[in-house]
Amino acid sequence: MKTSIKIGTIRGIPIKLHLTLLIAIGIIGWSVSSNVYEIAELIGVDSTGIAPGLESYLLGFAIAIGLFISVLIHELAHSFVGLKMGIKIREISLWLFGGVSNMEEIPREPNSEIKLSVVGPLTSLAIGIVSYAIGVFVSAPVLIFFFAYLGFINVFLFGFNMIPAFPMDGGRILRAVFAKKVSYAKATKRAADIGKVVAVLFAIIGLFYNIFLLLIAFFVYIGASQESQSVMMRETLEKVKVEDIMTRRVKTLSPDERASVVLNRFLKTHHHGFPVVKNGRVLGIVTLEDIKRLDDKDMEVVKVSEIMERDLICFEPEDDVSKVWNAMVKNDVGRFPVISDGELKGILTRSDLIRTYEAMQELDKFRGEEI
Ligand SMILES: [Zn+2]
Repeated sequence: MKTSIKIGTIRGIPIKLHLTLLIAIGIIGWSVSSNVYEIAELIGVDSTGIAPGLESYLLGFAIAIGLFISVLIHELAHSFVGLKMGIKIREISLWLFGGVSNMEEIPREPNSEIKLSVVGPLTSLAIGIVSYAIGVFVSAPVLIFFFAYLGFINVFLFGFNMIPAFPMDGGRILRAVFAKKVSYAKATKRAADIGKVVAVLFAIIGLFYNIFLLLIAFFVYIGASQESQSVMMRETLEKVKVEDIMTRRVKTLSPDERASVVLNRFLKTHHHGFPVVKNGRVLGIVTLEDIKRLDDKDMEVVKVSEIMERDLICFEPEDDVSKVWNAMVKNDVGRFPVISDGELKGILTRSDLIRTYEAMQELDKFRGEEI
């Protein structure tokens, strides 16, 4: 099922809305509509001119949409600074918990990472101030409420994003500040540890005061763990070359083989994918999933060349393994052919990488050095 829709492109960046965003707009719109008078009191706005019923509902949903437009502008700010630094932005997507700018690579140079991270929260703060200021100048009660509350929310977004924990911007800023003094991996670990402490604090407060905080605590904890894991992985694998860990004797298929024969091969070996080779050249890869997709009656008829994945990402024996890991994570591919002078030299799988990483971790523990 397609879970997000592209609504447009801004400076070459596709903007996508995830289906969960509709749920978020529904929940936020509804809860603002049903609490207009309480919120007005909270932010110090006169609510006597706002009619209950339709007017309140329209106001609630306008706030919900305004909130997500604010989040989009926040993400665009990150992305524009990224573009200026020469980083490719794959897409911006908005979902239940806000927005994400999907960037090709996040700069490791501390000052660049700080610039790239801090611009989002600062933009939210600016939207907040401007929106609040507009609220002072308009006269219709509904508009006063709209701009004042949107201003309030954006200032909150500024504060929330500055919390020093991954995956929030504050976590990246903290990492960059550490990275000025220690290695990137060490800085990430420190920032992630602090993030985990913040998550635990959130969870404790959440238990007593607000159950929603518990959910946020959970996301922060996962975010911190993932960030430090992926950076450690990258740093470790940078020291290894593809040829050192690839599987050299690769079983291959010819493009004319039938699917049923291939299925047998899968059953006999513990492999999950085979490269398809003709005259020494790699044409594609067939995975167990490709075969599983076929009906029984097609098994005898369909040829390998008809179901293989042709769009391949290949590596060379001298490439460093962290490059392969990045490609694996980004493209969700389990195996890559290793090619030199157009010829298949080996194959590198996800389990090869994980095994290498674990082995190196053990080795480092043994040596007693910190990475
Ligand atoms: Zn941000």
